[in-house]
Amino acid sequence: MKKIILSCFCFPFAMVCSAQKMSAVDSAAKTEVYSPVPKVVTPGENFSTPPSDAIVLFDGKNLNEWVLTNDIRKPANWFVADGIVTVNKKSGNIQTKKSFNNYQLHLEYRIPENITGEGQARGNSGLFLASTGGGDAGYELQILDNYHNATYVNGQVGSVYKQFIPLANACRKPGEWQSFDVIWTAPQFNEDGTLKSAAKVTAFHNGVLVQNNVELKGETKWIGLPSYHKHGASPIKLQAHGDKSEPLSFRNIWVREL
Ligand code: MG
Repeated sequence: MKKIILSCFCFPFAMVCSAQKMSAVDSAAKTEVYSPVPKVVTPGENFSTPPSDAIVLFDGKNLNEWVLTNDIRKPANWFVADGIVTVNKKSGNIQTKKSFNNYQLHLEYRIPENITGEGQARGNSGLFLASTGGGDAGYELQILDNYHNATYVNGQVGSVYKQFIPLANACRKPGEWQSFDVIWTAPQFNEDGTLKSAAKVTAFHNGVLVQNNVELKGETKWIGLPSYHKHGASPIKLQAHGDKSEPLSFRNIWVREL
């Protein structure tokens, strides 16, 4: 008799519990999203190697994806050997044949072990996130040897040159390979040439965050203040700096359009 009474009380309680459980599942389902399904991207074997959807800009074999900045009809003639490319200071900057808007980029560079010079004249190069003309026109993320080498902080490696000081100095020693991983959001312009939305950059130097979604004030200027002028999709450019220190090398350069 006791059992019957107990089950009479328990049965409705179990029903209520089950109803509550279902209701929680239904409620949770209301905030689940099933589309769009992210595309499948096969990652590279390691952080250096390109994922399946990357555009490889330099794979160690040739500079087929690059031209000279100051005469884009001519092929880039930096020195390719042993899977790396070394700056040819006589030829000047090189830039990609392709133009890009927003992207994720990976590159690796090595300052020569026997590097000489100081301040800005020691392993100076640069990654121009968008090349907007000849020479150094564009937006420069600084590459420089700042391993025990001081300079103005808004011009050290990882700075958006003369705009944003890097959040850390993550330099490795000269002679060691180092990396940059960058997310670039291109600026947008109105029809009349005025700025619609500023360029933004996030950058990791050797895996360390050095720029956190900063909004650029304009194109890099060595002298004077940065400013914008209207442009569209642009090449990516590497700098052959005019100082006398030994030239640096690059490898594993790839980009994913976003
Ligand atoms: Mg530079």
